[in-house]
Amino acid sequence: MRTRLDRKELVRLLTVSDAEFLPVLEEADRVCQEQFGKQVYIRALLEFSNHCKRACKYCGLNCTNSKLARFRMEPDAIVQTAVQAADAGYRTIVLQSGEDAWYSVQILGDIVKAIKSERPHLAVTLSCGEFPADAYQYLKQCGADRYLLKHETSDPKLYAYLHPDSSFAERFSCLKAIKEAGLETGGGFMIGLVGQTPETIADDLLTVASIPCDMAGVGPFLPHPDTVLRDAPHGSASLTIRAVALLRLLLPKANLPATTALGVLDAEQKDKIFRCGANVIMQKVTPADFKKMYQIYPAKFQDYSIEEGRRQVEEEIRRVGRIPV
Ligand code: SAH
Repeated sequence: MRTRLDRKELVRLLTVSDAEFLPVLEEADRVCQEQFGKQVYIRALLEFSNHCKRACKYCGLNCTNSKLARFRMEPDAIVQTAVQAADAGYRTIVLQSGEDAWYSVQILGDIVKAIKSERPHLAVTLSCGEFPADAYQYLKQCGADRYLLKHETSDPKLYAYLHPDSSFAERFSCLKAIKEAGLETGGGFMIGLVGQTPETIADDLLTVASIPCDMAGVGPFLPHPDTVLRDAPHGSASLTIRAVALLRLLLPKANLPATTALGVLDAEQKDKIFRCGANVIMQKVTPADFKKMYQIYPAKFQDYSIEEGRRQVEEEIRRVGRIPV
């Protein structure tokens, strides 16, 4: 199965029967183990603000959702949580938020510097949305290691419909700027968006490969009850797995997470994905009160301490025959 993975071949593989796709899953696992052995990397995820100025139609945090109680963590509290995560064994923390102008680039830079001075070996990933190119350079200078910004969908029309205040071209240029700033670049997209076709997904895969992204999260769309897409069907778990497996073949060295959204949709599929190309998992370290309010999509709320969460996720990884790192 060493055929060239061009657009036509990707579309074909996204639409063949499960039986015909099986060799791709096996190949993705082989390529993944060649790179990472049986190791799965665990990342801490801190959701530090659910304020957002954007109106993305699928997202529960969008600014038109007046039902949502909003919160914002003080910079000191963010730094302290990162320190706690490092002391619980995490080697990477992902700081994620809506697009919240309260945190200027300066403030975000100060947070990164403070974390780095407290725990120099903790890698810091930011996921706070779109900025001008020089902001990503500044954040890199402050010590940020990585930046996550999914392109969401590569269909420009669908992108414009879902994001009334942005465009695919803008999103793509941000990803390029992140890469040029020397940050490890995280991209990704959703499966099952209204109007998405196998061709769109093939383009999504090629978009991630074209950056090329160092990490990429692919997750199923999950309808949020307080958005206009509340009645839209959720994305398919098995199609999500196919996309991750194909991404593993396109980018053998990339860090590919089992997305939280996949686990919400189908816990079994989330376990399976570590045998189909995924090598990363994120675990929330967000304080309980805030975790409840960070509802991008509906998910069961689980209360656990940072240390318990760490133990749980290690256990989860061992259960599927992999080694937590
Ligand atoms: N504001 C940041 C972080 C966005 S939230 C940014 O713009 O990058 C992180 C990711 O959650 C998004 O990139 C999107 O892919 C995913 N997401 C948002 N709403 C979702 C939904 N309803 N279903 C599935 N995934 C969703």
